[in-house]
Amino acid sequence: MHTKTIAELVRGLHNRDFSSEELTRHFLRRIEQLDERYNSFISLTAEQALAQARQADQRLADSNETSLLCGIPLAQKDIFCTQGVRTSCGSKMLDNFIPPYNATVIQRLNDAGCVSLGKTNMDEFAMGSSNETSYYGPVRNPWDRECVPGGSSGGSAAAVSACLAPGATGTDTGGSIRQPASHCGVTGLKPTYGRVSRYGMIAFASSLDQGGPMTRTAEDAALLMNVMAGFDEKDSTSIDHAVPDFTTNLNNDLKGLRIGLPVEYFGDGLDVGIQNAIEQAIKTFESLGATVCDVHLPHTNLAIPAYYVIAPAEASANLSRYDGVRYGYRCEDPQDLFDLYTRTRAEGFGDEVKRRILVGTYALSAGYYDAYYRQAQRIRRLIKNDFVAAFEQVDVIMGPTTPTPAFKLGEKSTDPVAMYLGDIYTIAVNLAGVPGLSIPAGLVDSKPVGLQIIGNYFDESRMLNIAHRFQQVTDWHKQTAPGIDS
Ligand code: GLN
Repeated sequence: MHTKTIAELVRGLHNRDFSSEELTRHFLRRIEQLDERYNSFISLTAEQALAQARQADQRLADSNETSLLCGIPLAQKDIFCTQGVRTSCGSKMLDNFIPPYNATVIQRLNDAGCVSLGKTNMDEFAMGSSNETSYYGPVRNPWDRECVPGGSSGGSAAAVSACLAPGATGTDTGGSIRQPASHCGVTGLKPTYGRVSRYGMIAFASSLDQGGPMTRTAEDAALLMNVMAGFDEKDSTSIDHAVPDFTTNLNNDLKGLRIGLPVEYFGDGLDVGIQNAIEQAIKTFESLGATVCDVHLPHTNLAIPAYYVIAPAEASANLSRYDGVRYGYRCEDPQDLFDLYTRTRAEGFGDEVKRRILVGTYALSAGYYDAYYRQAQRIRRLIKNDFVAAFEQVDVIMGPTTPTPAFKLGEKSTDPVAMYLGDIYTIAVNLAGVPGLSIPAGLVDSKPVGLQIIGNYFDESRMLNIAHRFQQVTDWHKQTAPGIDS
């Protein structure tokens, strides 16, 4: 049951092959038995899940039920506020935080009848690429437990990869859906900025953060997008753009599709095995009728430096709210207000979060704003222009999601710059606000490789179509990590 896709589970539920309660119990049992190997969940919400499953079964008993996802269990990244359920964001600072409301994404999934199994582990405040900055300990990659799952949505990626949940939510500020999806062999979509509501999604860098689905297949991502996407008046950056049925175009022919390969994504630093896997994937698309040409994204090498000014700057402002006064962690026995602020923040935040707050505050300070922040914003515009120009020539851009396969736990944790460089192919996508998708496209040293498909603004439907066609003629997405029995 647990290796089935969401689409298959939908059919099973609607045919009454099993109930949502049976399905939910199955996944809960797997998490209870197996997750000590991976540490992919921070909180399990078994009782609530079973109550939701019983409600879903009642809805399904009525033949008029139209929500396809009714009764489907999912895992939620612990960055989405869940009413009455602890939402830690991977931080000691929010270890005791129980939100009084649901994030819009959670509310929409609840309304569709989805079952929430629990909250998944993540890098603290989504800052990281390896899940090692979590207050709750690192997540282990199901393909090789000595390796990281990627981050920051590493718990969600590992949970789907280990078949502890058929799908999960993630968020992506600079690659945090696509990079862990790539390292764990699952499908992950970062939608166009503004497509999915950020309301109730704990803010890291507000102009970059975007929620999206992590699933086994593109078809499943389309099913989740149908519920997650859409305008939300509670989020001032949400865009009122028509939301298609993302499943409608999945089977469209790829004949004539114009694929651009960014020259800058195939240079130094790219693992040879990954390069080969991506070239193989491109050949598959050619055999499906696509044409391929080179494109240029000339400002690629400026993306990481610009991001590591803009994201920390926004983070430093967003995280100023954790002051020990209103909610979250508070230090013991504060002597005065200043002591309350400083000790609460010194004790509540981990090293990576503090590093970003320091960098961000510095970059925004009066003397340095022009030198760093304004410059970074100018570079951001150039990066956006690169994508706009490329999409005048091609329909989609393809390349690797990451330069290397999953690395060993601890390998980069003392070298932040080496860690930051791993996001070289994903970060520009967030700076431009365009959508990006990672799908399994091979194995290198028995570890998954992700193919990145970058689309034009609001072109998720076509990207999912392209990924779905690929998944019909390849079986990388069907391979499971060693030891995951069916
Ligand atoms: N790895 C990047 C960072 O550390 C991106 C994280 C993310 O997308 N949330 O900021």
